[in-house]
Amino acid sequence: MSTTITGGCQCGAVRYESAGEPIVGAICHCDNCKKFSGTGHAVNMVVPAEDFTVTGALSTYSYKSEAGSDMVRYFCPVCGSPVYGHGSGNPAAVVLRVGGFDDPGVFEARVSLFTPLAAPWDMIDAGTAHFDAMPPPKKE
Ligand SMILES: [Zn+2]
Ligand SMILES: [Zn+2]
Repeated sequence: MSTTITGGCQCGAVRYESAGEPIVGAICHCDNCKKFSGTGHAVNMVVPAEDFTVTGALSTYSYKSEAGSDMVRYFCPVCGSPVYGHGSGNPAAVVLRVGGFDDPGVFEARVSLFTPLAAPWDMIDAGTAHFDAMPPPKKE
């Protein structure tokens, strides 16, 4: 099974397509996701890296994730939209920011991460499994 997801940044300079089967939909309340999203959490779709293609110039920012892995964030240098992330913790996957999807309705949240770090004014999705941290990537 596969789901083709297309999307891009706010100004349209960056476009992407994911043709693989999405791995998991995750809402992350960690402090890094608060910072780059500019709000309470990031809404992410994790997809296979091998089926992901992107066009347009991207800027990057590297940091250590809450789980200790090396992460790179990719964002549009023109409009600043977060586009995706890629990390050493799960190099076979890329983490798409769902707000950029042409059809955000393809997203389904399955897990909420770092829920103890959620801001007091933020909501934690009751329909998801809650994790105090980052669960290890599933090996199929
Ligand atoms: Zn842009
Ligand atoms: Zn996070």
